[in-house]
Amino acid sequence: MLNNKKFKAALKKWGRKHGRLVVISSPTAGGKTTVCAELIRSDSSCVRSVSCTTRLPRKGEKNGVDYHFVSAKIFKERIKEGFFLEWARVHDSYYGTPRKYAETLLRKGLNVILTIDVKGGRQVKENFKDACLIFLLPPSFKEMLGRIKRRGTESLEAVELRLKTAEKEIKELPAYGYLVINDTLREAVGSIKAIIKAENSKLKPVKEEI
Ligand code: 5GP
Repeated sequence: MLNNKKFKAALKKWGRKHGRLVVISSPTAGGKTTVCAELIRSDSSCVRSVSCTTRLPRKGEKNGVDYHFVSAKIFKERIKEGFFLEWARVHDSYYGTPRKYAETLLRKGLNVILTIDVKGGRQVKENFKDACLIFLLPPSFKEMLGRIKRRGTESLEAVELRLKTAEKEIKELPAYGYLVINDTLREAVGSIKAIIKAENSKLKPVKEEI
């Protein structure tokens, strides 16, 4: 007969202990930085992983907060040491997710949010069968172009380059598990929270992996 002990044992067997690796990728002007910031601000179960990069800090960016800014030499040494959970070369710079920090957070039951490019997303998909991959798109091409132009920092050539990259990135969409349209911030963040909640309500896989 069912009793408290058996009930707890069933929960322990089938319920999730770990948090989830959540990849959020988008082409240029998809809004992943803003969406990720709002997700983390409004959901205490979600923590952003701080990547390492070899690119120079932009105005206002802080080391250890926006990125860990490192030299190419250090980055390459870290690749060899297996320091990264995934890494990629994007726009002539290297970017990578530190493995240990993410694993510690996952063990604490937190969801680790990776706002990374599609090459990184592919690696996560291959190595972490349990990860949740979300692709974020602006509501239309017109809106996407408008967002790029509104930034006002891009030359015509830079806009063209970004659009070419975006085309390649969108081709990676089928590798992702979910598509979220970033029309309004509120709705996009709401959809991502719902996806994470649903993913974490799934029965535990027979062998949980981190
Ligand atoms: P940005 O230099 O504009 O901050 O980022 C350039 C691109 O690199 C963005 O698509 C961003 O999502 C991606 N990126 C940032 N951190 C990582 C990372 O750790 N790994 C990978 N694969 N891509 C990253």
